[in-house]
Amino acid sequence: MANTALVWLRRDLRLFDHAALAAALQEADQVAVAFVFDTTILQDLPRADRRVEFIWETLKELKTELRKQGSDLLIRHGDPRHEIPALALELGVRSVHCARDYEPTAITRDEYVASTLKQHGIALHTHKDQVIFEQDQILTQSGGMYSVFTPYKRAWLARLQPADLVSHPSQSLLHKLMPLPAQYFPLLKELGFEKTNLSELRMPLGISGGETLFADFQQRIADYQQARDFPAVKGVSYLSVHLRFGTVSIRELARFAQQHGGSGAETWLSELIWREFYQQLLWHRPNVVEHAFKPEYDQLPFPNRADWFAAWSAGQTGYPIVDAAMRQLNQTGYMHNRLRMIAASFLVKDLLIDWRWGERYFATHLLDFDLAANNGGWQWAASTGCDAQPYFRIFNPVSQSEKFDPQGKFIRRYCPELAHLPDAQLHAPWQPAKGRSAQANLFGRLDYPAPIVDHAVQREAALALFKGAKTAPESHT
Ligand code: FAD
Repeated sequence: MANTALVWLRRDLRLFDHAALAAALQEADQVAVAFVFDTTILQDLPRADRRVEFIWETLKELKTELRKQGSDLLIRHGDPRHEIPALALELGVRSVHCARDYEPTAITRDEYVASTLKQHGIALHTHKDQVIFEQDQILTQSGGMYSVFTPYKRAWLARLQPADLVSHPSQSLLHKLMPLPAQYFPLLKELGFEKTNLSELRMPLGISGGETLFADFQQRIADYQQARDFPAVKGVSYLSVHLRFGTVSIRELARFAQQHGGSGAETWLSELIWREFYQQLLWHRPNVVEHAFKPEYDQLPFPNRADWFAAWSAGQTGYPIVDAAMRQLNQTGYMHNRLRMIAASFLVKDLLIDWRWGERYFATHLLDFDLAANNGGWQWAASTGCDAQPYFRIFNPVSQSEKFDPQGKFIRRYCPELAHLPDAQLHAPWQPAKGRSAQANLFGRLDYPAPIVDHAVQREAALALFKGAKTAPESHT
């Protein structure tokens, strides 16, 4: 029997610096590459979903690359627990290779696939690919997980060796790709999905898009520390969706940041380490998916007003920075990190709505949705999480707005109905601008809602809610 292998792509949608592909090419004489549109995931998504379209566009690129090598991308649409073993048997491979996934449902799926394959004498090899350090590679001296970021980061940096950032060589072995006739490439509608506005967003897509964005960010990385908090400024990398789907390589990114040095690159590397901090947290504590990391805050008695949640979701709270943020998310699938913190804090601590509601909303709408980062970010903002914001630190949406969007450029982009207001009034349009009389206030004539809550009042209510949980003995379960 020929020594053949199958590479199962998931969130590693590229052919370069690819751990699973490199291992398969080194081990086998012929390697086929497959992707499964997983119906167990797709069935719960809205019919127009930018992520499905992003994947679909990326696969087109991969197909072209594989065709150039005389091979092709094998695409299946179904439950991978059955599709992958069936494909492995059809191709007669000896082994299947894929990148390790640390999400609880993915772990269960992979265990199932591994045991089915094993019954047929086929091995499933999983490889570390999407992170530099995984699982329990970074542990405290007593062998536990880190629950505070700064010492985790210190240990991460201390452990880092040049070898950890070396690319997995696959380019020179691509001639080993399995020769295949042209394979069918499904239309989006055959997968049950419609086109979204993704192509209108001028967002660089796929592998080439990741490359373009990374090249652009390399020119700006030195300014990252100063610019990263201002949503109207092009200060961040916009690479999150590419990290999510593996259209860029984390090793290349981290290597560049480390070699570049300087405060901008160091701060950016820290963000990549935050990403791994939350990945290891999810791996060590999978129950954070459903529960607060801090058990005393798991059952906070949030009033959860559905009408306030609807206003927040639609960008109609009357707080312009929150509304602009939510509209950016709804219109583009992206939200700037500073705004994610403000919008999340507002939902939990101003509207007193369970962070899990907001987490779910982001999970549905974010193009870069990542379970570990999203859960970590929400639990940080809600003060329920690992190394989270203390519960008494509550963002004031008006002063955040004045500080991080001082000229209201971002607000004007997403709340055009406020565009004509003077800068000083944009952040709290219901208040007359300084030096103007109440009569001169334009607010009543705006097609924009009055604030649905009073921040000062809600702040006190949030403090009471958290304090109550801290003192209630029955909540310490
Ligand atoms: P850059 O500033 O250029 O950062 C580079 C990369 O570092 C990012 O692409 C991301 O992979 C990683 N990173 C940066 N900040 C964080 C962070 N705080 N936690 C973990 N990783 C980070 N990020 C996601 O990738 N997916 C999510 O679903 C997600 N949900 C979030 C929800 C909330 C409530 C909050 C507060 C943050 C969330 N983040 C999430 C983290 C962060 O907001 C995004 O990674 C960032 O805005 C993406 O933009 P960028 O690629 O330009 O980031």
